[in-house]
Amino acid sequence: MSATENSIVEENKKSLNFIEQIVENDLREGKNDGRIQTRFPPEPNGYLHIGHAKAICIDFGIAQNYDGICNLRFDDTNPVKEDVEYVDSIMEDIKWLGFHWENVYYASDYFQQLWDFAVKLIKEGKAYVDEQSAEEIARQKGTPTEAGTHSPFRDRPTAESLALFEKMNSGEVPEGKMVLRAKIDMASSNMHFRDPIIYRVIHIPHHRTGNTWKAYPMYDFAHGQSDYFEGVTHSLCTLEFVVHRPLYDWFIDQLADSDYRPHQYEFNRLSLTYTVMSKRKLLQLVQENLVSGWDDPRMPTLSGMRRRGYTPEAIRSFIDKIGYTKYDGINDVSLLEHAVREDLNATATRVSGVIDPVKLVLTNYPAEKVEDMEAINNPENESQGSRPVKFSRELWIERDDFMEDAPKKYFRLTPGSEVRLKNAYIIRCTGCKKDEQGNVEEVYAEYDPQTKSGLPEANRKVKGTIHWVSVPHSVDAEVRLYDRLFMVEDPAGEKEKDFRELINPDSLIVKKGCKVEAFLEDARPLDRFQFQRIGYFNVDADSTEGNLVFNRTVALKDSWKKQGNS
Ligand code: ATP
Ligand code: MG
Repeated sequence: MSATENSIVEENKKSLNFIEQIVENDLREGKNDGRIQTRFPPEPNGYLHIGHAKAICIDFGIAQNYDGICNLRFDDTNPVKEDVEYVDSIMEDIKWLGFHWENVYYASDYFQQLWDFAVKLIKEGKAYVDEQSAEEIARQKGTPTEAGTHSPFRDRPTAESLALFEKMNSGEVPEGKMVLRAKIDMASSNMHFRDPIIYRVIHIPHHRTGNTWKAYPMYDFAHGQSDYFEGVTHSLCTLEFVVHRPLYDWFIDQLADSDYRPHQYEFNRLSLTYTVMSKRKLLQLVQENLVSGWDDPRMPTLSGMRRRGYTPEAIRSFIDKIGYTKYDGINDVSLLEHAVREDLNATATRVSGVIDPVKLVLTNYPAEKVEDMEAINNPENESQGSRPVKFSRELWIERDDFMEDAPKKYFRLTPGSEVRLKNAYIIRCTGCKKDEQGNVEEVYAEYDPQTKSGLPEANRKVKGTIHWVSVPHSVDAEVRLYDRLFMVEDPAGEKEKDFRELINPDSLIVKKGCKVEAFLEDARPLDRFQFQRIGYFNVDADSTEGNLVFNRTVALKDSWKKQGNS
């Protein structure tokens, strides 16, 4: 290999994250006959959020990049909180992000196998039915520096445990009266080895298995074994499972009848500023109507982000940028917004929308005249072409693009000053009309006919450019302006206050009577645009024919710091 080839190899190595390095090492060493298999294992107890997207990108990404497969496995071992609504939404969101699973599995598919394995452990003297209360069991757990106490049921005869385990599943045993525990080591330095509970009784029907089961396996007793049954090679999860890993391995050692072992590797959770990410908290927001639903555009859920106009490309690019490490931290939401802007800048059609309109009359422009102005659809992408936009004597402009008594550095419309109307003429402001309260009702200006594109004065420079919509060629729209859902960076981490008290009261501002160009009349839910000078917007799902609703996906520039500090 030449020196340059060597350095290219070095360069590639450096850009691999630690998980990719592990996978490449395993491939080099011929582990699992070169087979790579991962899984994404959501519990169907809520909608997916941007944190899950991080897990999805690595689970599916590893399989994609190394010729492996990734299965979708629903970790449905707790019927209390699970529902098919969540199963459906999870599948939709994964597809939207751009990934494809090989197979769909359910942990509940393995209930019989897990049951049989539990029976085997009882027979081998490695599990027992405990009849103590949850509180009693917790009290006996000990502390990290102090050994726990043996349950009085720990050494009960195998036959007794077997009979009671059957009863736990037959419906004869009420919830909370008995559990099955693995008999490992009450003095272990790893608390998870202190006779962990592996089965409990739940009488609520399961969304897939109905009333077949009353005894349900705990996460630790289901996850590793499911990986094993499926042939997973790399079981990727977040850092809080580091301490579970020895138990994961222990169960598989008891189960395995070959050399094959799935291995668990842990990476840092994604946390974002100004939001909460736990499903329990997100569910609270939904149930208490603090947001409009799981897909409220302010939610950190993938369905919320989709509705708001975020693109899968932007989300994947953001996750790529923050990377995978072995230490936890919190990521700035501005980074995500930056990725969204970057993607939309390259793709979104530029249009004109006036959020807070005031009428501008060009007093020297003929009343009946209408011209077609050429608007470039996207200056970042020539192939998107251009379109004609109607221009006439009466235009809508933003109220704050006019000021009667303007400070020196105000480069928009003020009596006597000139601005360019985007894609059209230079105009000079001549004054305004006000109502009795002093509110501006109309602004007046004269246009310079020589300043349109292609005419002699087209390139004359003026300091400001403002956008406009021709009054007879505009349609009304509702515009929803979103801001961060919470007022503080880490709402879940506040000691003094409940996270719900920290909701930003201005996180949604609804503007009615906005004016957009007629071109947008045919826009459909999810279509994305740049409203020139304002931001990126998309059409909301609430939009109907004749009643357009737009969401502000993200402003053109990051203005949060300015607002927050001033
Ligand atoms: P919650 O604790 O909010 O209920 P969870 O972690 O239990 O979330 P699961 O449905 O069990 O949610 O998660 C499925 C997969 O997604 C797991 O592998 C989990 O590690 C991963 N995951 C969940 N949240 C995050 C996050 N914030 N960042 C990265 N990965 C995550
Ligand atoms: Mg979980």
